[in-house]
Amino acid sequence: MDELTAITRARKLVAGISSAPVDVIALASAHNMEVKESDQLAEGEAGNTFRKGAKTFIVVNKNDDPFRRRFTVLHELAHHVLDLPSNHGATIPASELERFSGRPPEEKLCDVFAAECLVPTHLIRSLAATAPFCVDTVQRLSAHFQASRPCVASSYVRASRELIAYVFAEGGRVQSAIMSAALREQRIFIQGGMVPAASAAARALARDTTLESVELDGSDWSSSDAAMQFACSEEALHMRAWNQTLSLLTFERVGPSQRGAADRDESEDLLPELTGHLPWPKR
Ligand SMILES: [Zn+2]
Repeated sequence: MDELTAITRARKLVAGISSAPVDVIALASAHNMEVKESDQLAEGEAGNTFRKGAKTFIVVNKNDDPFRRRFTVLHELAHHVLDLPSNHGATIPASELERFSGRPPEEKLCDVFAAECLVPTHLIRSLAATAPFCVDTVQRLSAHFQASRPCVASSYVRASRELIAYVFAEGGRVQSAIMSAALREQRIFIQGGMVPAASAAARALARDTTLESVELDGSDWSSSDAAMQFACSEEALHMRAWNQTLSLLTFERVGPSQRGAADRDESEDLLPELTGHLPWPKR
């Protein structure tokens, strides 16, 4: 199974939902799975599942934050709906959820499915089109969908038509990078490794601040050839308790096509930009 199949199955499951937050208990119960909370689970254990007769029980750790508990339920539902064997046995380690690097492919697929259910594309698409891609928006949508900020940031990027990317790092090392379809079409990719020295993420870690923003060259974050023709604004949120950073990157073309436009005569300057979008002021 590939990621697209997991996403398609998730979209089908939540297609009828018209408002956030998604009722995860109801989704589980529609699949004959009952959710229970327990404070008896070991620290660092997000939850576990067990069968009793025809019913499957999902037990989530009452000490985890509520958004994490919602994600855990949907991750377990994903194993059931996608019929993917669980690689963590009956116990779900909290430290591995929503982590993309070094996880077995089935676990990543279950996370992708969970994120798609928690923040349905058809609900976030219109919000993403009107709210700027910034930390403030991510915090606001996190409360709206009752989903973690990393989950919301990745869903925003997947639903957006802009040239944006989201990078999640821990201790300055990139764990996952999600690029919008428009950015991938421009052949701009973000690689793994350490966050760039000039980045807002690196600055937030060095200064131990919560919020930083910087203006960079596209090539600071991407070694793709195409990135040389772009500028990149980055806003970074540093979650100090976990030593994690979320970087929100917005790319803008500054290369040959814009210089070309400047050479044209005045009448041509009145024509719409090469992007095909009319130059309305941004909301
Ligand atoms: Zn799993």
